[in-house]
Amino acid sequence: MKRTVLVIEDNEQNLYLVTFMLEKSGYEVVPARDGQEGIELAGRITPILILLDIQLPGMDGYQVARALRSNPALDQVPIVAVTSYAMVGDRERALAAGCSGYIEKPINPETFVADVERHLGGETRQEGNTL
Ligand code: MN
Repeated sequence: MKRTVLVIEDNEQNLYLVTFMLEKSGYEVVPARDGQEGIELAGRITPILILLDIQLPGMDGYQVARALRSNPALDQVPIVAVTSYAMVGDRERALAAGCSGYIEKPINPETFVADVERHLGGETRQEGNTL
């Protein structure tokens, strides 16, 4: 069974790095360069996890997370926010938008896959975020 991760990321270097690490660990990666493309792809492929850059052209990651969460078919899919904003409140904002967790840029290649996998299986996102 394919383990497909949807990566919504506009930065080619980050996309390359993340794809490399995930594929090396046996995941299939489907890339999306902006939120709209990501939302469309998510509905079609039903990934096991969505890695979501927060700083995106057009819709930002928070808007994308809310849109993804409005699709009942994706309700159980973990969404992990990736952001370069190491600012207080971002984590809370990502969780409030429906994300399951948070990874900070710059990505640490030593811990990245383990960080992602913490959000797979077992854990469910916080309930109570009615939109
Ligand atoms: Mn970006």
